Amino acid sequence: MTAAPPVIEIANLHKAYGALEVLKGVSITAPKGHVISLIGSSGSGKSTLLRCCNLLEDSQQGDIRFKGEPVLWKGQGHNRRPADPAQVLRIRTNLSMVFQQFNLWAHMTILQNVMEAPLTVLRRDRAEVEQAARAYLDKVGIGDKCDVYPAQLSGGQQQRAAIARGLCMEPEALLFDEPTSALDPELEQEVVKVIKDLAAEGRTMIIVTHDMKLAHDVSDHVVFLHQGLIEEQGPPETLFGAPKSERLRGFLSATH
Ligand code: ADP
Ligand code: MG
Repeated sequence: MTAAPPVIEIANLHKAYGALEVLKGVSITAPKGHVISLIGSSGSGKSTLLRCCNLLEDSQQGDIRFKGEPVLWKGQGHNRRPADPAQVLRIRTNLSMVFQQFNLWAHMTILQNVMEAPLTVLRRDRAEVEQAARAYLDKVGIGDKCDVYPAQLSGGQQQRAAIARGLCMEPEALLFDEPTSALDPELEQEVVKVIKDLAAEGRTMIIVTHDMKLAHDVSDHVVFLHQGLIEEQGPPETLFGAPKSERLRGFLSATH
C-alpha cells in the first residue's frame, strides 16, 4: 500500500508584491493528519504563505500540490495565474481558513453563518447541512448559540463559530491565521482547547500562531520563517528545546 500523498505540498514558492519579495523559495509539506505550525516575526511572510496554500494569493514561481494534484498555471512570473477555475474552487473549498478577526457575517445568525457555504458553494441538502452545523456548533461548545447574531457573542465564542463554519465544509485541512491573537487571554484558552481537540482527532492543519505553547503542544512540525525564507524547522521538541539558529533563539526569547 502506498502512503496517501500530502494534503498540501509547496515546493520552492516565490511570491512578491510588486518589487517586494515576500517568499523567496519556501517549501512546506502537510501530510494527512499532521499539524504544521508557522512561526516568525511580523512581516516574515506567514500569512502570505498560508494564503498561497489555498490560492487566495498568486505566486510567481514554485509548485503547489493538493493531495498530489499539481496546481495548473498559465502565464509566467508576475503574470502567472491558476489555469483552471474548477481546480481553484475544489482546492479552496477543501482548505477551510480561520482568520484572526473571525469574519462572521454580522447580519446572519450563528447557525446561518455555519450553513452558508455548504448550501451556496457545495449546494448540499439543507436538512443535512443544518444537522451537521448544529453538531459542529455543539462540538466547539456553543450549541446553545445557534439563533443569536455574532455581535452577541464574546470573541472566543465568535472564533469557535468560525471554526465550526470551517468544519461544516468537511475540508481536507484547516488553515488558521493567528486564530487567538485578537482574544483576551482567558478567551484564548477556549479556542486553544478546540484546536487541541481537532489535532487529537487527526485533522490536518496549518496554524500560523504567535502562541509558542500552542505550537509546542499541537504540532508535528514547526517552521520558523525569517524574511521570506525558512530559517529553521523541525519537531517541536527540537525547535523549541534545542534551537540551532541564532535568529530563532532571539525570536523565542523575545516571545517569552
Ligand atoms: P506575517 O503574516 O508573517 O506578519 P505577511 O505575510 O502578512 O507577514 O507579510 C509579509 C510582507 O508582505 C510584509 O512586508 C507585508 O507588509 C507585505 N504584504 C502583505 N500583504 C501585502 C499586500 N497585499 N500588498 C503589499 N504588501 C503586502
Ligand atoms: Mg500575518
